[in-house]
Amino acid sequence: MPLSLDDPKKLRPLRDQAHQVAMNMLRPISRTYDRAEHAYPQELDLLAAMIDGLSESGAGSGAGASGVRRDESTDDAAQAGVRNGTNLASVMSIAEMCWGDVGLLLSLPRQGLGNSAIASVADAEQQERFAGLWASMAITEPDTGSDSANIRTTAILDGDEYVINGEKIYVTSGERSDAVVVWATLDRSLGRAAIKSFVVPKGTPGMTVERLEHKLGIRASDTAAIRFDNCRVPAANLLGSPEVEAGGQGFAGAMATFDNTRPLVAAMAVGCAKASLDLTRDLLQRAGVILDYDRPGLVQSAAAAKLLQMEADWEGARLLMLQAAWMADNRRANAMEASMAKAKAGRVASDITLSCVELCGSVGYSESELLEKWARDSKILDIFEGTQQIQQLIVARRILGLSSAELK
Ligand SMILES: Cc1cc2nc3c(=O)[nH]c(=O)nc-3n(C[C@H](O)[C@H](O)[C@H](O)COP(=O)(O)OP(=O)(O)OC[C@H]3O[C@@H](n4cnc5c(N)ncnc54)[C@H](O)[C@@H]3O)c2cc1C
Repeated sequence: MPLSLDDPKKLRPLRDQAHQVAMNMLRPISRTYDRAEHAYPQELDLLAAMIDGLSESGAGSGAGASGVRRDESTDDAAQAGVRNGTNLASVMSIAEMCWGDVGLLLSLPRQGLGNSAIASVADAEQQERFAGLWASMAITEPDTGSDSANIRTTAILDGDEYVINGEKIYVTSGERSDAVVVWATLDRSLGRAAIKSFVVPKGTPGMTVERLEHKLGIRASDTAAIRFDNCRVPAANLLGSPEVEAGGQGFAGAMATFDNTRPLVAAMAVGCAKASLDLTRDLLQRAGVILDYDRPGLVQSAAAAKLLQMEADWEGARLLMLQAAWMADNRRANAMEASMAKAKAGRVASDITLSCVELCGSVGYSESELLEKWARDSKILDIFEGTQQIQQLIVARRILGLSSAELK
């Protein structure tokens, strides 16, 4: 059978719709909110309401950035055989939206990383109670980044409440969201098995947003430091099982959320890099550079050869993104492919966006175009939800069959 590298037919209308939204709603306000860091992009309220409407009608599967439950995909998969489902739809629409603006996509109400965690692990009662909330996710602490198993924030059971104490930093949408999904340990001496996540609604006494960061890129997205000082939440706000299982199974479950969300970050990188490629191709052609897709790059101009090489690299990232999402839709274990997709797309997006600045010279560097902004925006995609080095570590462990204790 011939190999088709095009997007699946059934998802093309969704992709095209997302592209229109990116072009007509995100691009026009992109520079405004890059300059007005920490100002809330109110235009997104309308867009979020549209996405809510699509989700309620069932027509918007994959329209936003929310998570996907494996059990749901399985039931459908069992009935339908191999399928292109919500994960695939999500990566395709997110890539298009990030062709518009990554920072604005990250600021979309009710599409936070915390929403992915809730969608992935909350029980039926919690799903209902937390429906409609905009949830951010707080894992990182002043002393803990990549080594998330070492978090120090504690959650101690007191009657039918948990008392949370600690400090979280770099929480995306931490100020704007309605609730924060906080990772905390029930008992540090029990290691990673005792790490659980808790939904903490805004306004809960003891939770304080202390500051917002000033950043290199994605300035439209707020990034908050949050302190928890004897902050009490109902015991029923713990996501998943409260049991501390031997062997760290609970923690493995929490980490499994990333198998669904890493392809989404790969999609952000694919979209941002595509924006740079599209504009650079256009600027080069307007400057008289001839691109010939039927001849090797080596016999073309240096600028054309560089663009062709970047397009091929981008295609590799896109295919890994599609593969990881497709595997999730079909309930195949995809931890390695999710990390491969994020590692490749994160690296490629940084390389491509900066090389596009280089190829376009002063036009690339100036604020007259968005190329310099995309070079700044793309860097975070190779850092959050696991850095480039951490993704490579995960891939190496999987290939070599080594545990996290054996390969650090
Ligand atoms: C804009 C922004 C938004 C963010 N949003 C969120 C959010 O919503 N929620 C949240 O919880 N966190 C968030 N983060 C935090 C982000 O996930 C962390 O910055 C990231 O996990 C890296 O942690 P660190 O910064 O402490 O770096 P470190 O872990 O200290 O790493 C520093 C460097 O060492 C490398 N390194 C670390 N360990 C190894 C190893 N074993 N082998 C090889 N190299 C290694 C890393 O790759 C990196 O290059 C955000 C960060 C930023 C900047």
